Amino acid sequence: MTAKRYLFTPGPTPVPPQVLAAMGEPVVHHRSPDFRPVYERCLARLREVCRTEQEVLLFTASGTGAFESAVANLVSPGESHLVVSAGNFGERWAAMTSGYGADVDHLCYAWGETPDPDDVRARLREHESKAVWVVHSETSTGVVADVQAIAAAAKEAGALVVVDAVSSLGAVPCETDAWGLDVVVSGSQKALMTPPGLGTCAVSEAAYAATGSAARFYFDWERTRKAQAKLDAAFTPPVSLVAALDVALGLLLEEGLDAVFERHIRLGRAARAGAKAMGLELFSPDEDRSAVVTAIRAPDGVDSSAVVKGLRDRFGMTIANGQGDLLGKIFRLGHIGWFDVFDIVTMLAAVEIVLADLGADVERGVAVTAALEAYEHTPVH
Ligand code: PLP
Repeated sequence: MTAKRYLFTPGPTPVPPQVLAAMGEPVVHHRSPDFRPVYERCLARLREVCRTEQEVLLFTASGTGAFESAVANLVSPGESHLVVSAGNFGERWAAMTSGYGADVDHLCYAWGETPDPDDVRARLREHESKAVWVVHSETSTGVVADVQAIAAAAKEAGALVVVDAVSSLGAVPCETDAWGLDVVVSGSQKALMTPPGLGTCAVSEAAYAATGSAARFYFDWERTRKAQAKLDAAFTPPVSLVAALDVALGLLLEEGLDAVFERHIRLGRAARAGAKAMGLELFSPDEDRSAVVTAIRAPDGVDSSAVVKGLRDRFGMTIANGQGDLLGKIFRLGHIGWFDVFDIVTMLAAVEIVLADLGADVERGVAVTAALEAYEHTPVH
């Protein structure tokens, strides 16, 4: 038998069979009636999932490309922008905005810290900025920031808010319009349960009105917006991926976004309960908001790279190592998108076996029970 493979990373994530089947349909022409209804429905569903009335721009790119569209459209050389970072992706956005010539005020936390809205407020008082750039779910650490409160602080100072929701959209609440988020960027391969290749970008009227002078073409918001309004994509879209995303968004909306968020909270609780029952120390916060990825410290004397390798070699399971300085120190269990509690239990059982093999002093047989209990018996409301 070919070994079964399990994808337990915080992106790419497992893709449901209905979504994969949509990818297998014959390729259609993007300027024909074969594609337009799919495109229209996909864009409408995207607005629902982003909880916005605005058109959500769709780019043929990974999340970073969609994010670069925000930088290319909003940053003019020499302008002041506040970038909040507390991990790998926040630091990437500081580098990218600087690369486009922004005068970056970098509110830089240590990896694993949770950004504080009051710090944002104070920084904006000291130093006026056109926009605040913030990561909702910092996938490198497992921290989910309170974007609603950060957005409120930015609004008080009259700044735009740009949110990296690449790993959070469709997993935890991200209320684009209600929270006053000007730009919300995401990607297809995370909680949206679709293969990699599509980047999404919700843009407010205030953000369109504030576009800057940086050179851009493929990622120009106005060009994409006008084309989408006529269902006539500016450039050839990956029609098979759009068809797949349409099906995946339909699945999310059929389950109901609130039910989806509740499932993720319970998955996060199950993962943390299992890890703690084994005697492991969490790196990501032990709180419900941290429902995207559970980051766990490798026990003393164990390199997390060996845990990642052990899961892969013995069980065909892919989990994520730490990034940057956390490489070898933590391992990360993703649980966004097409996940249920038995995926959590499967990973925990395998982690337990691999850690024992590596000589770690873990208590055997308790993680699975603790995870199931946490999933079943802790009401969310
Ligand atoms: N931002 C966050 C929070 C992410 O988790 C990722 C991907 O892991 C990215 C940005 C980059 O997205 P992509 O790899 O799709 O370009």
